[in-house]
Amino acid sequence: MFQKILIANRGEIALRILRACKELGIATVAVHSTADADAMHVRLADESVCIGPPPARDSYLNVPSLLAACEITGADAVHPGYGFLAENARFAEILKDHNIHFIGPKAEHIRTMGDKIEAKKTAQALGIPVVPGSDGGITSDEEAHRVAAEIGFPVLVKAAAGGGGRGMKVALTAEGLSQALSTARSEAKAAFGDDAVYLEKYLAKPRHIEVQVLGDGRGHAIHLGERDCSLQRRHQKVWEEAPSPVITPAQRHEIGETVASAMRKLNYLGVGTVEFLYEDGKFYFIEMNTRIQVEHPVTEMVTGIDLINEQIRVAAGEPLTLRQEDVVFEGHAIECRVNAEHPTTFRPSPGKITHYHVPGGLGIRVDSNAYQGYSIPPYYDSLVGKLIVHGKTRDECLMRLRRALDEFVVDGIDTTLPLFRTLVRTKEMAAGAYDIHWLEHFLAEEIKGV
Ligand code: ADP
Repeated sequence: MFQKILIANRGEIALRILRACKELGIATVAVHSTADADAMHVRLADESVCIGPPPARDSYLNVPSLLAACEITGADAVHPGYGFLAENARFAEILKDHNIHFIGPKAEHIRTMGDKIEAKKTAQALGIPVVPGSDGGITSDEEAHRVAAEIGFPVLVKAAAGGGGRGMKVALTAEGLSQALSTARSEAKAAFGDDAVYLEKYLAKPRHIEVQVLGDGRGHAIHLGERDCSLQRRHQKVWEEAPSPVITPAQRHEIGETVASAMRKLNYLGVGTVEFLYEDGKFYFIEMNTRIQVEHPVTEMVTGIDLINEQIRVAAGEPLTLRQEDVVFEGHAIECRVNAEHPTTFRPSPGKITHYHVPGGLGIRVDSNAYQGYSIPPYYDSLVGKLIVHGKTRDECLMRLRRALDEFVVDGIDTTLPLFRTLVRTKEMAAGAYDIHWLEHFLAEEIKGV
């Protein structure tokens, strides 16, 4: 097992990883930018190293600084969390060259899944159903028109290097396709330095349902069920739940087995998420994330399995002892991402938290690095914390969520808590009857109504 883990991240996920390390008896090193010197995970870590000024490229993405921090502290492994360097295959290789373990999959798997065109081809070859679309990258307007005519409009142009919903453009008709192609290309070039794009059928009313997997890199892999992340704004997840309100145990078993068997064929190591769109009873692969996800706690709440503990143990070379039949799903869990943003305009609201009170009681979990007097720096994402609620049934979970949201106090900054208080009382959320576009429509109506 590792002796000392350097946590190459910040915010709630750095704290979450630190907690897992403490429970495993592993020493921890926090790294931080000058803007994060007062962060909770820095206070709680055994050691901490300042790795640079506030901009992420000079600190959390600064590989020489991170290597120096490993060297100074003698850390033998690095946990990258999510975002930053978590899906950077080159970083995993550099660590390996320095005899430091990367807590994540093999570099080759990160690389394959990081290119969405390659990922889709790989998924298809492994027997995972994919969204109909171009076989690979689109190289000319003529090719795009030919593929679009085959699959039918509307179509979606997507960036091979895409992430965070960027570089995606819908073409409703043939007339708009050339424009969508060039906009997606230039957006992708600007955001990722790579203008490769591909074409997909644009699904009108899908849900976003993803499968959590865990593998030991030696041919053993299991699935931990699905998460429904259909509540989205600008292709970003806002609320996640497990199980999905719309799939049956038989469907869960089938898609879970399809994915787990693909991971066994790949000898996949660590945690991963295979993301699907789901429409009219069918699953369509969109991408795979080769890291821990923000929304992993909902899976932990319904399975009782500590995903980061498992991730660390398999990264250290321990065999995965969990068998598929050990994974038992109990009750229902919902996560709300509480952001430091205005609840209707979504304008970021960094600043000092003057009062902070988190809800408690049975079935309530708050993953957050915030505390009273903490100042949210303006340089990073606006996540204040995640409220995760568990109940025996979805109804109990919703009832508990309403209660917990009413108890949650974060003063001094704007947060999205009022939005969740409204959402949890809508008939669509109560019924679980929402697709990936529902929130945008709802928000447009709300603003009209004000
Ligand atoms: P990113 O890597 O940028 O997050 P994804 O491929 O994961 O991109 O897609 C993000 C979101 O975009 C999905 O959750 C869904 O809301 C929407 N989306 C992606 N592909 C399609 C599609 N073919 N049809 C309709 N919506 C899509």
